[in-house]
This record gives sequence, C-alpha cells and structure tokens, in this order.
Amino acid sequence: MDGQGWSIVKERLRAQVTAEDFENWLEPLEVESSNTDSSAVTLSVPSKFFVDYLQRHYTDLIQSHLRETLNNEAASVGYVVRAPFQNAPKADSSASPVAATELPAANGAQVTDASGDTLMQGGRLNPAYRFDTFVTGKSNSFAFAAAQRIAESDDTVYNPFFLHGGVGLGKTHLMHAIGNYITEQFPDRQVLYISAEQFLYRFIRALRDRKTVQFKEAFRSVDVLMIDDIQFIAGKESTQEEFFHTFNALVELGKQIVLTADRSPHELANIEDRLRSRLACGLTTEIHSPDLETRLAILQKKAVHLGMNLPDDVANLLAERITSNVRELEGALNRLAAHSNLTGQPISIEGAHQQLADMFRASWKVIQIEDIQKAVTEHYRLRMTDLLAARRSRHIARPRQVAMYLCKQLTSKSFPDIGKAFGGRDHTTVIHAVRTIEKMMSTDPSIAEDVTLLEQRLQG
Ligand code: ADP
Ligand code: MG
Repeated sequence: MDGQGWSIVKERLRAQVTAEDFENWLEPLEVESSNTDSSAVTLSVPSKFFVDYLQRHYTDLIQSHLRETLNNEAASVGYVVRAPFQNAPKADSSASPVAATELPAANGAQVTDASGDTLMQGGRLNPAYRFDTFVTGKSNSFAFAAAQRIAESDDTVYNPFFLHGGVGLGKTHLMHAIGNYITEQFPDRQVLYISAEQFLYRFIRALRDRKTVQFKEAFRSVDVLMIDDIQFIAGKESTQEEFFHTFNALVELGKQIVLTADRSPHELANIEDRLRSRLACGLTTEIHSPDLETRLAILQKKAVHLGMNLPDDVANLLAERITSNVRELEGALNRLAAHSNLTGQPISIEGAHQQLADMFRASWKVIQIEDIQKAVTEHYRLRMTDLLAARRSRHIARPRQVAMYLCKQLTSKSFPDIGKAFGGRDHTTVIHAVRTIEKMMSTDPSIAEDVTLLEQRLQG
C-alpha cells in the first residue's frame, strides 16, 4: 500500500469518527511500509502512547477499512513510533508486595513511620473534579485521553505521567479525576495526592530529622502518588538529589507517579539533567488554552451545573473576551450568578459588561499586524527584514504566508492593508497566501500545528 492508497482509507475513516477524534488520532498516521501484497501495513505514529490508544480504540476500525480498500481479508495493521522517545522500563510489580494489613485507611492517605509520626499527609481529592465534569476540545483532549489511560489501567507503562500547561487550564482537575476514578473503581488501591509545596515541606522535615529512609519507606503502601505543581521543587538544589532518589525508588517499586507543572520538563529551570530526563521519560502531555468552541462548551456545562440561566449572547461575550484560562471563565460566571441571585435580576449582556468590566479590560487584547510578524519571526527564527523583504526563497515564503494568514484571521485589516504591511505587497499576494495556508492546513499537519501554536500564543 502506498501513500495514496492510505489516503483513501483515511478518507473513509474520516467519515466514521468525530472531526476531533480524526484530527487527533487518525490524521497523524502515515504509511511507514507494507509488504508486496499489502497484507501487512505498518503505520508510523508520533508516540508510544499513540500506539496504545490506537490499539484500544481504532485498530479494528482501521483494519476493516484497510481490508475493504485493498480487497484483502487478510490485511492487518501494525504501528511503529516515528520519533521514538525513551520510556521508563516497565517496573516489576512483584517488587512491591503490599500486605493488606499495611494499607492505610482511605484516600487522602496518611503515611506514618514505625514510631507513628506522620511523615506524609495527603490532600483531599476534590469530588467535583471528575472525568465527566471535564469538557474536552482540541486543546485538551489528548491530555484527557492520557489521564484516562493512566486511571484505567493498573500497569505502569507510562511513568511518570507528566501533565503541564499554563495556569487555570485544568491540570489539577485532571489529576484529581485520575485519583477519584481510581478510588472508586479500585477501592483497594491507595492514592496519595499532595501539592509539591507540602511534599517539599515534609521532605525537608524528614531530612532535618534524619528520617529520609523512613520517608521513602513510607510510600510503600501507596500505589499512586500524585504531586501537583512540581515546578516548586525546581531550584531547591539540596532537596533535588534526595527527591530524585525517592522518585527512582518509587518508580522501581512499580508505583504510578502523576506530576503536574506549569511547564514541560525541558523548560523547568534549575533542575539537574538527570532528574529532567527522568521526569520526561514517561508520558508527557500538554494542556493548551481552550479554543472558542471549548470555552463555550465549558460555560454551558458550568451554567447548567450552577442552575443558572445563561443567555446565548452573554455566553458568547464571555467566551470571546476571556480567552486565557478556564479559572477566569468560571470566575466570571460565578460573579454573574452571584449578582443575579442577590438582585433577583436576570443575567443580561448590559449587566455582564458592567459587572465584568475589569476582567474584560485585562484580557481583551487587540492583536496588531506587528505582533503577528514578531511572533512569526520568533517562531521560525527569522529576521523581521527577511519577512518584509522582496525575496522569494521558499523557507521565508512559507512563514510569510502563515503571517499573512494570521493577520487575516486575527485582525480586522483588509487584504490591501496587510499587503502594505508586508513590504508593500499587492493584495492578490495576500489572498493567495491565505488560500494556500487554508489548503495546507488540512493536508500538512506541521503547518496546522504552527498556525495553532501561533494563534494560541497571540491570543493567550
Ligand atoms: P490548573 O491546575 O491547571 O491551574 P485547575 O485544574 O485548577 O487548573 O482548573 C481551574 C478551574 O477550571 C477548575 O475549577 C476546573 O474545574 C476548571 N476547568 C479547567 N479546565 C476545565 C475543563 N476542560 N472542563 C471543565 N472545567 C475545567
Ligand atoms: Mg493546579
């Protein structure tokens, strides 16, 4: 089977699943190789997690369309990871025999040492943070699927699970959702949730009291350790070394570790390379800012939950104006609900403008052509003069088209205005650029990704 045959299969698959699922899981698949009669087709995928997900959800579907297209009932599909990344060795679960008597009470477990001192006290899981209260969209569905995968299985193939993203985007929510799910579905598995600050505090105390051995031992009875906001651990040199050892010991004991941070392991400043690569060697996923559609869906879900009557125009206003994070979106909604409850007045667009003026001012950013040009040159590592120059070399032409496309999408400028801002180009050049990028976005995932990233960065 060649690329063309595969695109036929892909098109058939597209008709079978939601647009979002197609884009996430099927669109990125490419034919790596196939034997001469195409009875065994190998697809290349971006990560090991992909293979896992496809096997669970899509292999049968892919295979049936492959067979139909090839008219070969024996055709089968296999996967190979395109950009392989290192994975944690699968821990030997027999290494952690946990006797029933050792199990602490419930979740939010307390872990004590032999003398009864509390070495570790977990935080409470928020019962409202569940998978079914989490709204998914393009920005977070990959992270959502990964979190579900971690929660559903008792293997530790992905260790640690590292979830990162900006503030208020749902990291803690997903982490608690994992915890809540495990606590309900596997009541005898122990979940320990703790903020990195608490973890550090306890840890430093154990260091001081020379109880680090006990500290490590104390985790034996925990099956899942979740540490929230671990960027707090970075930069604390003296404790990093010990943290690293504790961490390794837990991975070797077959404990699932779930971590969140406001940035990726590679972007965490001030941590040792050894720790960094250990952090990154499981499954690392990012949560992005939600797009407009997802923001609307979140608002609607929360409004129903709060039992409030949220008119469509108000929902649209909030979703359009409050773009950076979900926590703010929630805050705005809560404020409207409270005001309406207090005054007995229904929620209206005028009221929303008044009550949320401060939030709108802070997050409403008018994007200028120059902002876009700057972001594009940084993204593609070009100089501004390259972007504006008359030269046509391909490696500059494409970024320039992306920039023009973004100007059309994100500003209210006309084609001639945009042309003028790009070294006095004709408006037909801009129209051509916009069309080209539109077309490429559906055929070239790397362009689509560039555009999405740039949009998020500019709107964020
Ligand atoms: P973070 O830990 O990334 O800073 P949180 O998990 O605390 O963010 O999320 C902030 C608030 O937004 C929480 O109340 C959470 O329930 C809500 N939230 C975030 N993302 C979503 C989502 N996709 N669907 C529903 N609620 C969300
Ligand atoms: Mg958080």
